[in-house]
Parts: sequence; structure tokens; C-alpha cells
Amino acid sequence: MSNELGLTVKPVCGISPEDEARVAAWIDTEEYRQKNFARQALTINPAHACQPLGAELAAHGFEGTLPFVHGSQGCASYYRSTLNRHFREPAPAVSDSMTEDGAVFGGQNNLHEGLENALALYKPKMVAVFTSCMPEIIGDDLTAFIKNARAKGIVPKDLPVPFANTPSFNGSHVQGYDAMVLAILQTLTAGRKVEGRCTGRLNLLPGFDANTGNYREYKRILEAFGIPYTLVADISDTFDSPNDGTYRLYPGGTKLEDAADSVNGKATLTLGAYATAKTFAWIKEEYSGVHASLPMPIGVAKTDAFLLKLSQLFGKPVPESLKAERGRAVDAMTDAQQYLHGKKFAVYGDADLLLGYVSFLLEMGATPYHVLCSKGSKKLEKELQALLDASPYGKAGKVYMNRDLWHLRSLLVTDPVDAVIGDTHGKFAARDAKVPLFRLGFPIFDRVNKHRVPLVGYQGAINLVTELVNKFLDLKDETCEERFFEMMR
Ligand code: SF4
Repeated sequence: MSNELGLTVKPVCGISPEDEARVAAWIDTEEYRQKNFARQALTINPAHACQPLGAELAAHGFEGTLPFVHGSQGCASYYRSTLNRHFREPAPAVSDSMTEDGAVFGGQNNLHEGLENALALYKPKMVAVFTSCMPEIIGDDLTAFIKNARAKGIVPKDLPVPFANTPSFNGSHVQGYDAMVLAILQTLTAGRKVEGRCTGRLNLLPGFDANTGNYREYKRILEAFGIPYTLVADISDTFDSPNDGTYRLYPGGTKLEDAADSVNGKATLTLGAYATAKTFAWIKEEYSGVHASLPMPIGVAKTDAFLLKLSQLFGKPVPESLKAERGRAVDAMTDAQQYLHGKKFAVYGDADLLLGYVSFLLEMGATPYHVLCSKGSKKLEKELQALLDASPYGKAGKVYMNRDLWHLRSLLVTDPVDAVIGDTHGKFAARDAKVPLFRLGFPIFDRVNKHRVPLVGYQGAINLVTELVNKFLDLKDETCEERFFEMMR
């Protein structure tokens, strides 16, 4: 076989163009969809990352903290590059680079040497250790390894070294995030609870959230209320630091002292029930004050619930400025309702985000038609289904639990929707189905600044309306017949 330049080309496989076309058409059929959904032993393009990636995000959310991967260098590069590409910011973390000898003899030497180097070079205030698959498979004992490091004088007595087991063959980035936040809070608050002491502050747990704009939105809302707070695992400055010519290794994060004193807080509120499940269960046992769990405040109803809870917890009225913002959000949604009403969406992603997207779409009269989560539970499935069932617009919606983006592709090509909401990994399925993908999750590699635009609160609702509706209007302008190309839309 020769190419257009007359050069001989050795075929890489013996599949003819006709066969290729036949299979390409077949994977769009109902018959293939049935076979695809019968698949059990293989995951293709999952809508989640591995546990340690979530642990690294959590570690970056604390002041002066160096994320430390006990495990393979390649895995560490994957977490770092994913965070780096999403935020377009450095994600400084280290690895003790276990190789074959570590896999055979255990990784204690790697960990000790790695800690020694990391402390000498990067002078952190805290080192947050978490694991990749390899040490988990061979059963490395982090408790003993770190105890031995202290006994040998490698780690100073007063340096906090929280550690989390984050086996990737189990769970997802969300569970890794939860495990790391839990380990950090357990370490920092040890011996800090004082009977009768109350900081008067709210501890706010956002959960796994890679949108720095959301963190800033929470802070703005709390400041409008005049509520003193500790935002736990605050990555807003770490991953959205100013470019002023000076490189800072640790540009932000929750102050370690504030995290330590959070155990004496007036109230603790999680906005990521699924992403902080273990942390919050522990907090309920250990922390002073009131404990509450709410869904992520995406859309008007969930934002109302958030603000009313703040008002109730701190005995303060909802500020006039936020009431006015609510009115503006309702106005923006009403103005744009006609463009989204009746539109069908496919949504996929993390549990806490999915609950928010579904809620918002229903508020707009749109139908979350395919709702897909690639690591979820029966509890989540029920909660999502209940949300759908509670609205006339959700009746046609269906939840697909523990399915991947190749399943999503089958859904999109056999039972079409108007648009997809999710992270960058869904762009291939959306392209095949010829529908727009709204990039609202994590990671987003192929658009800029998405992580800076808040989706939570009333302002987040306005941002969502703007993004979704304007895209549909753009599409109309780009594709309509000449006689329907109008000034007004
Ligand atoms: S799944 Fe395991 S091997 Fe793969 S990147 Fe994550 S930790 Fe490494």
C-alpha cells in the first residue's frame, strides 16, 4: 500500500475501510447499546480520577503544606499534571519514587529518604502523606514508617505529618479527598479541644471542589453575614494566586492554627455530604458546637437553604445585599427560562455536583435526562431519583449509577439530548453525538478560566444561566436558515 506521496506504507492492522465504517455505524445502534450496558469487567473512560489525586487537592488547601506521594513517580506526575492543567497553576508536590526494590522490600527507605530531602529542600510547615496503588498493594504500614522516621530524627517532633491511605483500586478522588482532610484535621486538632472554649467561628467544609471561584463566593457570603469562619482546605489562593513576578511555593491555604482550633468551633457545616462523609462523621463525634450537612448550594433552592442555615446557626438575618442578589438571580432565570425550558441534558460527575446540576436544571424547567455517575452508591441513586421525581420536568430523567463515559456515548447516540454537562473527558462522546458540552466539572483541560467562575450561590445561578443559554443562542445563530437570522432572540 502506498500513500499520496507514493511512499510504501505498512498497514498497522488488517481492518478494511469498509469494516471500519461498518463498526463505526454499529456502535451507534441500540443493539450495541445493549451489549455495552451488559459489560461488567471493563471500565472505559471513567468520570472520576484516583484517590490520591483528591488527597493532593486537599493537602494543597492548607497553609505551608507539602503534598507527599508515597509511591510511584509516574502516579505523582499524573496528579500534578491533572491539577496543573485544570488550574493552569503549579501544583508543587513530591514523591518518594518507589520502584521495583520498594515493591519487593517495602517502601520505608523511600519514605524516609524522601522526607529527609523534602524537609531540607522545601521547608514545609506540614507534610501531608498519601499513597499510590503500589504501596497499598504490598501493604506498607504508614503508621509504623512515620513513627520510625520520628524515632530516627528524620521528622522533627513538632512537624505535623498527617497521612492517609488512598488505595486507587477502591473509591475515587472524592474518597481520597475525604481521607486526607480527615487525617489532617485529626492530626492538627489532637489535644486541642478545650472544654468550655468556643471560637465563635463557623467551620465550613466545601468538599472536593476544584472551582476557586466557589471558595471566594463562600467567603464573600460569610463576610456579607459578618460570620467569622474557617474555610477548611481552602485552595482559592493556592490555585488562583496573582502573577506578580514572585513565585511562592505555598501561596495560600487554611491557616494551620485555625484548622487546629476548629475543634472548638461554634458550628461546623459541610456542603459536600458525599465528599466529606468520613470527615463529617468524625467531626460529629469530636467537634464542639452544632453540626450540619447541606447539599452544595447550586441553584436558588439550595442557596436559600444555605443562607437560612447560616442565619439560624448564627442568629443573624440574611443581609439585604444577598436578598437583592437572590432577586437578581430569579430575574435572570425568569428572563432566560424560555430558552432552557424543555431542553434535555445529560449530566455526569461527582455526587455533590450532580445533585446541584439536577436541582438547577429542574428550576429552569429543563430535563436532566441522563444522569450518570461512575462511582456512586445506592443512597446517591435514590437521592437523585427523588429529586427527579419531585419535579414534572424530571419525570423522564433516569439515573445511571456506576457507568462510564463509554456508556454515556451509547446513551447520547441512541436516545439524544440537547446538551451535556460534565468535565473535559466527555468531549468525545458529545462530539460524536453532535451536541454541546458545558464544561462545569473537574478536570477542565481545554478551556480557560472555568475554575474562576463560581457556580454556587445566587451569583453562581446567574453564571450558569448565562453560560447555558448564550451557547444555545449562539448555536441558533450559527445554524439557522437565513430567514430566521434575527436581531432579537
Ligand atoms: S490508579 Fe493507581 S497506578 Fe494509576 S495513577 Fe492512580 S495511584 Fe497510580
